Amino acid sequence: MKNKIFSFIILIGVILTSYSFINSSKNEEKPFIVVLDAGHGGHDPGNLGNGYKEKEIALKIVLKVGEILEKQPDFKVLYTRKTDVFIKLHERAPVANKADADLFVSVHCDAFTNNAYGAGTFVLGLHRSQANFEVAKRENEVIFLEDDYEENYAGFDPNSPESLIGMTLMQEEYLDQSILLASLIQNNFTNNLKRKDRSVKQAGFMVLYKSYMPSVLVETGFLTNKKEGAYLNSAKGQKEMANEIAKGIITYKNSLSLTTDDSQNPVITQDEIEEAIETVEENIFEGYTFKVQLAASSKKLELKPYNFKGLQEVARKKEDKLYKYYYGETSDYNKIQLMKKYAKEKGYDSCYIVVFKEGKKLKLSEVLNSEDK
Ligand SMILES: [Zn+2]
Repeated sequence: MKNKIFSFIILIGVILTSYSFINSSKNEEKPFIVVLDAGHGGHDPGNLGNGYKEKEIALKIVLKVGEILEKQPDFKVLYTRKTDVFIKLHERAPVANKADADLFVSVHCDAFTNNAYGAGTFVLGLHRSQANFEVAKRENEVIFLEDDYEENYAGFDPNSPESLIGMTLMQEEYLDQSILLASLIQNNFTNNLKRKDRSVKQAGFMVLYKSYMPSVLVETGFLTNKKEGAYLNSAKGQKEMANEIAKGIITYKNSLSLTTDDSQNPVITQDEIEEAIETVEENIFEGYTFKVQLAASSKKLELKPYNFKGLQEVARKKEDKLYKYYYGETSDYNKIQLMKKYAKEKGYDSCYIVVFKEGKKLKLSEVLNSEDK
């Protein structure tokens, strides 16, 4: 009997070892690929606030981010440019698509009046304020420096809000992940560097719209502001900003690997999610309520966190003879995206967002497309 137990233990040991071997060799096969995109370049200097060159600052920050990430195990870093060359906007995301990248991060500096300052992080979406639209417009106008832009952008007009509506749909699938990454980076800027918080926002950036992966655009600050321009032009400023961008990317990556390996112990904590929710720009749909549907069951579960992988404030509703379990309740679409992301972290892989109006469940896609955001 002792012998049998002993061989059983050996067998289990062999299984576990080979399992972890398979797992680790799997990880080695596919590194986490980040495409870093330094805005502008070549005959497009970007903005020239206070005589500083956006194209140079963006490149220096990007190269430093890459340097940090390249030292991490499992990371592979690609660049849309590593030198001072001109690259068309529509050729940037395809670099990431071809590499089957996991993230696309574009780095820029903003320009406005000399009293505007602060860092902001954008994801692709419909702008909610004129100010956000203006940022995207400034970055999109680069296409006029491309000799064949009419061919490549098929009637797209960076000055027209209508032109932006069609292009937001392709990134919709990655919106929750993009928002999470943007929040992690943005919180690093404000918490660790005390940069003025211009928050996580959505706007129609051409450079993001053709990427098939979570994508963000970082506006590190305003060159037109004397103090901030000097900071961003300094080696210290570039190093600090690069550090925080890289840290955001690393945290993001860690949160992903744990959703498959150990969903009970997510790297993203409840606090971090709550902080991200506070940072993210509101995207309110007046009169609608979004919820994350976790599960449907004939079983009536007690609404205790231990029944829901630690999620708090889960609600139960009986619909069509089934109990539906919902997490979150808000009219803010960006907020519910983050809550869905968190539920997934906790192990609800197939959870999804549902929307109600006056208690009636509606089709999410129709609500998102029909409403004036
Ligand atoms: Zn730019």
